[in-house]
Amino acid sequence: MTDRLYYNDAYLTRFAAVVKHVIPLDNHKQKVYLDRSAFYPTSGGQPCDFGTLNACPVTEVYVDDSGDVVHIIDGVLYPGIQVEGQIDWARRFDHMQQHAGEHILAGRVFMNLRGHTNGLHLGHADSSIDVDFPDGSMHLPDSILFRLEDEVNERIQSDLPIRCWFPDPDELKQLPLRKPPAEYEHIRVVQIGNDEFCACGGTHPSTTGQIGLFKLTDVRPSRGKLRFTFVCGKRANMSFRDHMETVKQLSALLSADLGNLPTAANDILSRYKNTLYTLNRERTDNARAQLIQFANTVPVVNGIKLVRFVFNGLDSEALKNAAAAINSQPNCVILLASRSSDNISLLFTKNSEVSLDMCALLRAACKAYGGKGGGTSDFARGSALDLRVLDEAERLITESLI
Ligand SMILES: [Zn+2]
Repeated sequence: MTDRLYYNDAYLTRFAAVVKHVIPLDNHKQKVYLDRSAFYPTSGGQPCDFGTLNACPVTEVYVDDSGDVVHIIDGVLYPGIQVEGQIDWARRFDHMQQHAGEHILAGRVFMNLRGHTNGLHLGHADSSIDVDFPDGSMHLPDSILFRLEDEVNERIQSDLPIRCWFPDPDELKQLPLRKPPAEYEHIRVVQIGNDEFCACGGTHPSTTGQIGLFKLTDVRPSRGKLRFTFVCGKRANMSFRDHMETVKQLSALLSADLGNLPTAANDILSRYKNTLYTLNRERTDNARAQLIQFANTVPVVNGIKLVRFVFNGLDSEALKNAAAAINSQPNCVILLASRSSDNISLLFTKNSEVSLDMCALLRAACKAYGGKGGGTSDFARGSALDLRVLDEAERLITESLI
């Protein structure tokens, strides 16, 4: 089985090993087995290390069913040769920061709130843990979250020692592990300070100070648990920088400093809503007036007053309002459309005396030129891509009257 060098030294970035076995893969790739490796394989929620074996890039590392570490490389190596492994330290150290920060958070969640953490997900942008609370809590007030965040950062600033080792079963049974292990043989323990003990195979810095900074970024229910999302170390700095950049841009746009941004945004939004409301009311009033004026010019033919009109950029509520202005007129059948940049809204309605079925008419007309809709025999709405739908509707009405 591969001797995993990272267990004893998370800072080992360069190592020599012998290639025991290779399996060729497609596209000039290989599975490579070594006698020893400092490459961390994807496991326990922590993604694998990247780096090189000789000059070959290592693009994936995992543990196979027999417990050996498998390195997927771009290139060709041969069994029996000695290789030099080089770990991508920036990636490894980032993972060490996130993983150790997770342990401190999970420890605080347990100590303060008796919440049980179910695994770690260390993602590309942020990381998360899912927590079960004894009382099934799916929400925590900001005061508790701020206290958790402060306590994690206090532990980071105290620069507590972090120790990773394989205790023998007797020692393991004496340790106050946050979660009891399923077995007692070959269990690796991570200890942070003197009150956080947890079984873990991950890579960690030697002291908490190296985590740098911890920030909760989101806490919300997920699949029956409460999900805590966070960033540590350089990721926390980058997140702060991104937030500051956004605040700067918003401050310049709204001419307001940080403290006044919510009020400034609220002012603009309420002015926008008022303007939109006034604009919509004016549009609707204009549409009603236009339609009344046009309907007055339409004669009754074969017992029907067919009012057909096309608007531009009117929403469906405004169309309905416009139709309501004339559909009390006797014998009235109203075919309205409104053009927008990507679509044509349709509204067919009629005076209740007329015995045509508006829903059937709209669907039949749409069939010819594409479109869809539904409604009742008095009132139907839909959408189409071609205004010739109105020609077709008019033709169908005439046909049914003749
Ligand atoms: Zn861990």
